[in-house]
Amino acid sequence: MGKYYNENTVLYLNGEFVKASEAKIDLYSQSLHYGYAVFEGIRSYKNVNGETKIFKEQEHYDRLRNSAVAMNMPYPWTNEELIAATYEVLKRNNIQDAYVRPVVYAPANMSFVPNEESFIFIEVWEMLPFFGEKLLKVMTSPFQRPNPKGFKITAKASGHYVNSILASQDAKAKGYDEALLTDMNGFVAEGTGANVFYEKDGKLFTPAPGNILPGITRATVLELCNELDISVEEKQITIEELKEADAVFFCGTAAEVIGWDSLDGQPFAKKWSESLGKVIQDAYKARVIEKEFKIELV
Ligand code: PMP
Repeated sequence: MGKYYNENTVLYLNGEFVKASEAKIDLYSQSLHYGYAVFEGIRSYKNVNGETKIFKEQEHYDRLRNSAVAMNMPYPWTNEELIAATYEVLKRNNIQDAYVRPVVYAPANMSFVPNEESFIFIEVWEMLPFFGEKLLKVMTSPFQRPNPKGFKITAKASGHYVNSILASQDAKAKGYDEALLTDMNGFVAEGTGANVFYEKDGKLFTPAPGNILPGITRATVLELCNELDISVEEKQITIEELKEADAVFFCGTAAEVIGWDSLDGQPFAKKWSESLGKVIQDAYKARVIEKEFKIELV
């Protein structure tokens, strides 16, 4: 209980709506023992008309399916039924601005043979939009992202997040807000739960797919750049290049769009309020609540 649920909280568990405090899963589940589960991180927002809207729900549930398929986990659900279940959980908990966490997990199985069935739960908890003015002090992590030859890194598999936990805890223990991880070749990859963009000479850059989780927010940022005529390029990026950036930001479902104060203690040339990242942040803020956004470039 505590932060995520209380005695009244309801979650969706394998076709039923049950109290979180009474829900049970099998302690012999392969998911718990080996990190063999897949999940999503989704948000819902109260839109401009006061309605609850799950942002990019098809994209998130498509990715959940793709993650399960990549992990050889049976996935018998349709997006439609899971989206309907998600709206129902939100309604039953009376939450509009929420973080939504579906998890697909495995039955009891201590061997490494594939399973014949999977299970699912969907939890929601209140999360208000952030889009704050706080800027992040980021540290280049000594931890690298998992090698794509060892893991299917485009899948959102639970076990992959041990890497994120190690990197994030390490950065915080050293007095930073967040970690930036490189890939196995030392190029810029991503944050522990967010993708990265930087601005240089009026243009945005972001690591190309291959060694990152290609986020849904990242795709939304690319979409917004296209709509707003901001030029953006996907490429291989070094830490040195990033330190020379005019401005940098993370983007992700939970983080939304959040600017950086510094990397390894080194600040950036532009004020966040004057950066392209701020324009993207405002456009994203409008997009998630289905509000029209008009750009005011000075
Ligand atoms: N990278 C990693 C490692 C993540 O965990 C996340 C969060 N899912 C992201 C990037 C951003 O993805 P999204 O925009 O789809 O939330």
